[in-house]
Amino acid sequence: MNFILKEESRILLIAVLFGMVWTIGCTSVKEKNNILVLKGATLYNGTGSNAVENSIIVIKNDQIDCVGSDEDCNPPQDATVKDISGKYITPGLIDAHVHFFQTGFFDSRPDAMDLRDTYPMGEVIAYQQQHPQRYYDAYVCSGITGVYDVGGMSWSVPMQISAEKNPQAPHVAAAGPLITPVSGAPFDLPSDKVLVPLNSKESGIQTVQYLSALGATGIKFWQLDADNEDYMERVEAAAQEIEKQGNKMIAHATTLKQAKAALQNGTKLLVHSVQDREIDQEFIDLAKREGTLYNPTLIVGSGYMLAYRAAAGIAPLTVEDPNGCIDPKTNKLLATASQFSDHPTFTKGFKERLKSFDPDSDRVSSTNMKNLKKVYQAGIPIVVGTDAGNPGTLHGISIYEEMEWMQEAGIPPHDLIVMATKNGAMAMERLDDFGTLEQDKLANLIILEEDPAVDISNMRSISHTMIKGEMKKVGGY
Ligand SMILES: [Zn+2]
Repeated sequence: MNFILKEESRILLIAVLFGMVWTIGCTSVKEKNNILVLKGATLYNGTGSNAVENSIIVIKNDQIDCVGSDEDCNPPQDATVKDISGKYITPGLIDAHVHFFQTGFFDSRPDAMDLRDTYPMGEVIAYQQQHPQRYYDAYVCSGITGVYDVGGMSWSVPMQISAEKNPQAPHVAAAGPLITPVSGAPFDLPSDKVLVPLNSKESGIQTVQYLSALGATGIKFWQLDADNEDYMERVEAAAQEIEKQGNKMIAHATTLKQAKAALQNGTKLLVHSVQDREIDQEFIDLAKREGTLYNPTLIVGSGYMLAYRAAAGIAPLTVEDPNGCIDPKTNKLLATASQFSDHPTFTKGFKERLKSFDPDSDRVSSTNMKNLKKVYQAGIPIVVGTDAGNPGTLHGISIYEEMEWMQEAGIPPHDLIVMATKNGAMAMERLDDFGTLEQDKLANLIILEEDPAVDISNMRSISHTMIKGEMKKVGGY
């Protein structure tokens, strides 16, 4: 056993040296016949009910045929049985806030730092569109079996269908382009766009009709001009059309005033924390009335600071990635970040601010943390979403740190499991298919070495991801 472990670490070392760890870290261990039984693990089924010790799950093709405690299921004789006693199972994780058009660095966010001389926007975005597999692999490698792209170019919407058919991809929900008061975004292309200005009631209604026909899961409003009565009348008209289309409203509304305006118009998913002040009873009442899901995105803001520091040559962007989930192109992009250290973005004052930023103490905003606790105590359903793709917030592995900070805010890890699984599937409108481990649902699950209900950091002890019934070894365990 010892020898095998040593041999494995030797292979891993060689793999790292040759930059190949990514492919090795995600090898598939598909079963020979189509019925697999996992027995002996402690199971959290995602509904929030108590752990099932000594559990059994019977997986037939890509579905859960039976799940329960030892005596609940009678698997057929010829099933492949894996005894995984001592390990832990949860549903596959869901990152309910990602952006496939974004790379994790500034090349896809020229509004934050313009690198278009080095990385032409058209080329960056075309690559993002044509190569989603590297992110699919990063997600599955991190235990994520469903992602919700809550804003991107129109090409993100058909990814819902292509990813569904792809056995190597998580399930994808996508909202597509966003409705906004902002105009002239530098990340729009002549042929496609992320932001659609809400110039009139008619244009808003048409945008809602177009995106709904395209198949968008939700229509997102990116900021609300809450003080502008005329603008809010346009929002109201668009919101009514959303209801007519049987779609749902999503909002990026980061001030209390904006968030309340969004809720008054029927928003079902808030994709960020309320950041400017503590929430009040009116906010809570409105969110409860609408059955709104709350996605705090605690780490994305400081992710920008970390990415700026890397670009300024102050400190490299270091990420914990022991399982080699990050793809080589992203690693290279980050490793060469400091080539921009003389970029005009870095004025003297800004460089000083970046130097004084402390990744430990300044990682999250205290208002966001307080509001998350209040939302939790009020019983508003919460989802886990990272805003992956933004500079400094990488696709896949960012989910661990996001959940760790949510725990730090006061959410018990047992409840966090539900937020990262069932509630995410609810946001994606896919709870009938996955998100919990129950009979007839898709077999999307993860196997862990340590108990995630004791400490959510134990999500990092992942050894396997099962996606659409196919088991993949992902961790170094
Ligand atoms: Zn976002």
